[in-house]
Amino acid sequence: PNNPNNPNNLPCFTLSQSAKLLAERKISSQELVQISLNKIQKLDSGFKNSNSLNSFITLCDPEDLLAQAQLIDQERFKNKNKNLNNNIIDLSGIPIAQKDLFCTQGIKTSCGSKILDNFVAPYDATIIKKSKQAGLIMMGKTNMDEFAMGSSGENSFYGPSKNPWNLSYSPGGSSSGSASAVAAGLVSAATGSDTGGSIRQPASFSGITGIKPTYGRVSRYGMVAFASSLDQAGPMAKTAEDCALLLNILAGHDVLDSTSSRQPLENYTANLNKNIKNLKIGLPKQFFGPGIDPEIKNKIQDSLKIFESLGAEFIEVDLPHNDLAISAYYLIAPAEASSNLSRFDGVRFGYRCENPKDLKDLYERSRSEGFGEEVKRRILIGTYVLSQGYFEAYYLKAQKIRRLISEDFQKVFNQVDVIMGPTCPSTAFKIGEKIHDPLALYQSDANTVAVNLAGLPGLSMPVGFSEALKLPIGLQIIGPHFSESLLLNTAHQFQLNTNFHLQMPPGFGELFHE
Ligand code: GLN
Repeated sequence: PNNPNNPNNLPCFTLSQSAKLLAERKISSQELVQISLNKIQKLDSGFKNSNSLNSFITLCDPEDLLAQAQLIDQERFKNKNKNLNNNIIDLSGIPIAQKDLFCTQGIKTSCGSKILDNFVAPYDATIIKKSKQAGLIMMGKTNMDEFAMGSSGENSFYGPSKNPWNLSYSPGGSSSGSASAVAAGLVSAATGSDTGGSIRQPASFSGITGIKPTYGRVSRYGMVAFASSLDQAGPMAKTAEDCALLLNILAGHDVLDSTSSRQPLENYTANLNKNIKNLKIGLPKQFFGPGIDPEIKNKIQDSLKIFESLGAEFIEVDLPHNDLAISAYYLIAPAEASSNLSRFDGVRFGYRCENPKDLKDLYERSRSEGFGEEVKRRILIGTYVLSQGYFEAYYLKAQKIRRLISEDFQKVFNQVDVIMGPTCPSTAFKIGEKIHDPLALYQSDANTVAVNLAGLPGLSMPVGFSEALKLPIGLQIIGPHFSESLLLNTAHQFQLNTNFHLQMPPGFGELFHE
């Protein structure tokens, strides 16, 4: 019955299950890594095979992975008499995946771009270092929209990732490979980055849980910069509990990132046991407007009834400037990107054109040949809005709107504890459906970008499936700055009473249960 070629026979584990099974010596790290390798080999054979998920850009060497696992198993065996019941949950030996915009020493970091196709960083990003210190085993680097610009994964130089719920559909973006790998159970968890929704939107499209932390909660050191005032890394996993486990590892002040926060850290897993009686939930009318698919509205309403049964209260609130968020975001993010991406000049990093005539030709052709369409579009927009004569009219105006959006949230958080609404106006779109209409793709960020503009934490978790296509639907929970514990606990209380987060896409095996 255990034909390893059939992915249905390969169990999928959450992080917390893996940690428990390892602690009880019921499974070894080598076994966990082998299961992950088998699944990846079976389901993810790169871009060329149309049945492949294409979740990974780079896979780590299997022998090396098993050797790492063996070392960790030995270490665990040596420490077997140590007290297992301390506060820190040991995640060592568990396979995860890292988005391909975190620099990894000795392993390619492409950022989904041709321009970095040959780039191997000489150092590890802080979150990579922290993951390694925790003993997490990196199976590979996940696929993404080029420089994290996009909502479907289709801007990747390596071809789009597929949504395991339906291979003709996008898993969302830009953290598309992390979302598809977690949804399909290739790994228990992965990292993502979220500049305007790239953790929450793919989590919503792929039926998993993901949290964008408060700006500055997680170090950006060694993360390829898209829009530095908005970028934030965070965990993507099946459950809120797993997100808490991984965020415990990733979060914290870093002397190497001057924008990382010194706010004291919380233990996110220790805070998962609070009841949510009398929790005040704000429902912004702007999140339930005419642009939202009615089926999504219904499923969100159903999920709110569950919160109500747990004792939560609802208040209708107003985010009057939310409708301007997309316009402000698509000026500010490209402005910062145009500056950040100026470093890719064919001289210092990555791709260089062949036989340049002179220095100008080297710059021009390296950049025109190395960057894809969407990245070029954003560099053009960004350079334009920062140029003399347009700066006040566009960039400065967008910054003023950003301030108004932040103030809207502050006012609402004087009345309520958290805000809820649909993560996205629609379920996953078909690959190819929107890629030739950038403005339509931008519209799909309507409920996510304001959170980045205000620097707030936001979480998405599955709360149902569409009737016809059985595609996942996500609920977004937004809180005040540094309220990650509250968001994770709120999601966890919901997940204790429902099982949307435990569903596996058909054909991708079952989630382990004892
Ligand atoms: N979809 C948004 C964009 O294209 C968000 C991307 C992100 O969060 N990295 O910019």
